[in-house]
Amino acid sequence: MTIPQAPVFCIDLHCHSTASDGLLAPADLVQRAAEKGVSHLAVTDHDTIDGLSEARTQAESSGIRLINGTELSCLWKTQTIHVVGLDFDSANPAFREALARQHENRWARARMITERLQKTGVADLLEKATAKAGGDVPGRPHFARVLVEEGRVKDAAQAFKRYLGAGKPGDVKAFWPELSEVVQWITAAGGIAVLAHPRKYRLTATKLRNLVHDFKRAGGRSIEVSTSGQSSGDLGFLVELCRQQELLASQGSDFHFPGAPWCELGKIMKMPDGLEPVWHHFKEPAGVPSPVQSGA
Ligand code: MN
Ligand code: MN
Ligand code: MN
Repeated sequence: MTIPQAPVFCIDLHCHSTASDGLLAPADLVQRAAEKGVSHLAVTDHDTIDGLSEARTQAESSGIRLINGTELSCLWKTQTIHVVGLDFDSANPAFREALARQHENRWARARMITERLQKTGVADLLEKATAKAGGDVPGRPHFARVLVEEGRVKDAAQAFKRYLGAGKPGDVKAFWPELSEVVQWITAAGGIAVLAHPRKYRLTATKLRNLVHDFKRAGGRSIEVSTSGQSSGDLGFLVELCRQQELLASQGSDFHFPGAPWCELGKIMKMPDGLEPVWHHFKEPAGVPSPVQSGA
């Protein structure tokens, strides 16, 4: 395997393949990343590591370094939060078991939505909704599209208003585990837990600080400071948060499909100096092995 010895690394630690809700197969995703100049990539599919072996084979032939990754859903208070796990041992039996349970949780919810809709007189939509999700576990937006196709409602908005929205039969809460639990899974498998896209939860600054506090207490070590489509104001806020809380800084595009100009593999706003990059703490550290000392 050849690792490009470029003076500047291009590091993308968050993206999705067809193993979850991405459009590209793992090998195509890695190939595209290589074409975009990415030197270090983590494929972080939702609640699965099924794409990793295909991605690894392609990474070896494309000459880019693949870091083990996944993005796990969990609950903090009543809020769904995403935690990216990086550089874990993918053969760890307890971790694999936890991922299998996580995947089953998704299906259990899809089945419950199906059953509740059936009680209102709608047909069994699970198969069609699964097709809408590209063969993966369908969520409410996929059920909404089928309800439109079946002529039950005129559009997705009406599907939510009548069938899927708050207080309606298809409003089934996800069965996610607690934040602290998923952080422990990742940590116990030798990985680093990263709080994904912290600005996406639309929390107030105070609530976000509380979240980060709880995340750290559970063993979380890093937050995504730079992600696609965020403003420079968001970046500045997260840089400050990362510094204050003495967390490792991560970055990733959260790429799902080609053609979105605001979201491309490897295209991430540069993090300012003075933060400690998470990739310095991988088992095989990337970049300068000595930590950056000052932010001046
Ligand atoms: Mn996604
Ligand atoms: Mn996410
Ligand atoms: Mn994601």
